[in-house]
Amino acid sequence: MPDVLQGAGVSPGVGVGPVRSIAGAVPEPAAGARHGGDAAAERDTALAALEAVAADLEERGGRAAEAGNAAGRDVLNAQALMARDPGLADGVRARIGEGVAAARAVFEAFGVYREMLAGAGEYMAARVSDLDDIRDRAIARLLGLPVPGVPESDEPFVLAARDLAPADTAVLDPAQVVAFVTEEGGPTSHTAILARTMGVPAVVALPGATSLADGTRVLVDGAAGTVRPDPTDAEVTAARAAAAARASALEESTGPGVTRDGHEVPLLANIGGPKDVEAALANGAEGVGLYRTEFLFLDRATPPSGAEQEEAYRKVLEAFPGGRVVVRTLDAGADKPLAFLPAPGEEPNPALGERGLRMMRRHPDVLAAQLAALARAAAGLPAKLQVMAPMVTDAAEAAYFAAACREAGIEHPGIMIEVPAAALRAHDLAPEAEFFSIGTNDLTQYACAADRQVGGLAHLQDPWQPAVLDLVAPAAGAGVPCGVCGEAAGDPALACVLVGLGVTSLSMSAPSLPLVRAALARHTLDECRQAAAAARTARTPDQARAAARTHLHALADLGI
Ligand code: PEP
Ligand code: MG
Repeated sequence: MPDVLQGAGVSPGVGVGPVRSIAGAVPEPAAGARHGGDAAAERDTALAALEAVAADLEERGGRAAEAGNAAGRDVLNAQALMARDPGLADGVRARIGEGVAAARAVFEAFGVYREMLAGAGEYMAARVSDLDDIRDRAIARLLGLPVPGVPESDEPFVLAARDLAPADTAVLDPAQVVAFVTEEGGPTSHTAILARTMGVPAVVALPGATSLADGTRVLVDGAAGTVRPDPTDAEVTAARAAAAARASALEESTGPGVTRDGHEVPLLANIGGPKDVEAALANGAEGVGLYRTEFLFLDRATPPSGAEQEEAYRKVLEAFPGGRVVVRTLDAGADKPLAFLPAPGEEPNPALGERGLRMMRRHPDVLAAQLAALARAAAGLPAKLQVMAPMVTDAAEAAYFAAACREAGIEHPGIMIEVPAAALRAHDLAPEAEFFSIGTNDLTQYACAADRQVGGLAHLQDPWQPAVLDLVAPAAGAGVPCGVCGEAAGDPALACVLVGLGVTSLSMSAPSLPLVRAALARHTLDECRQAAAAARTARTPDQARAAARTHLHALADLGI
């Protein structure tokens, strides 16, 4: 076992304790398993198991709500609804009617839904583990196996699992569980969301999480994403000191974004809809830098009506009376497929296909309806609405979008810079846009030719790649205000580098705001510029990180 295991830190804080693993995985019922011939009895057994799972989930939801975890209750109630889905029950009935044994019928009926979700983009794929959890609970009941769940322990422990189901995380007692570590899951998984809500340190996507022997004492650092087996007392003390330093720095981190020498850098939030406004405000967002509108359009056979769109946009605009709200028009296609906007044909490389503005040019009515709803939503409100298009490649596309905005009465059209061609020729696009917003997630994927959906290429999806920094520089220097709204903006060291490259605002998921604010407040603009220059002379992402840090001394005060 290596000294330190590295995963993705999704909920900050330090936890130390013995590992307890979640009850073993439920095996797949054998393919071809048949029941004894009494289909009616077998059906009753199968449906009763599903109902028992639904009732148990509801009961856990009630307990979560009593413990003040309303988000947990909602997740569990949604899972109970899935367990009672009539389509699922029909699938189970039909298979049992063909002679398939109850447990296998349940497994296969869930498989149909699983495939639909797994193929429906990053966000929906994260829901697959919720579905697997319901399935495994039902199968465990049918096979007489222990239902997967949190182990009993008489001392606080670190919970290790392949992936944590909402049913488990929602009823956890934060006083008992000092940290979560999971082999799977990502920053948008329920494990991550609930861990943050509960304030429990968590590391996900940790290879080896399930190989940690029960009882091994581990040190989990939810900010660094590390798990250290058998730590020394000195290591535990150092990690706790770093976490405490960060926590107190964050408490003092309030107000608008500004460098130590007074250079203002507005700090904005990335949101997916009105439900995210509360977290944005709680973390001091000065506005919204990226409103990903596609969440309003997902899971539907037809686009939302103009009135429904207007209401969602207005709710967000009203929450930031003095601030700006940057709304991105529909970014459909590739990892965000929409049922009513199918790709025009077979796309061997969807990330290089019809997505973003390319898709909207094929469906100008959808774009026009969205722009009109935005214009109506902003009418009479004090917030500054800015609208931008995703996946713009050249000046002609930028001009097309600006004209569509003007026609809808939208005054401040902007574009996302996420295609390398647009970054390199940003000066050509600048006359067509009032602002740029660099999408470093896609810019990195396209600069490094590494699909962001492919986990095995993570080392090539690193925005510290010097080539990516080289693409940010011309966009930031093209003479129009230029923000960054990809994940890179939420990395405190990289945020300083981006400011040094000339970026004028930073937009990130709300929990990242305090640390970025604190990092900026501790460095001058000149230090940021030196860090940027040093990072660009590096030859690898790791060298770029190290080179930048030599000019960002105060990051250490923040425990990073
Ligand atoms: C990006 O590409 O960096 C971005 C912010 O957009 P999305 O992650 O939604 O593609
Ligand atoms: Mg993008």
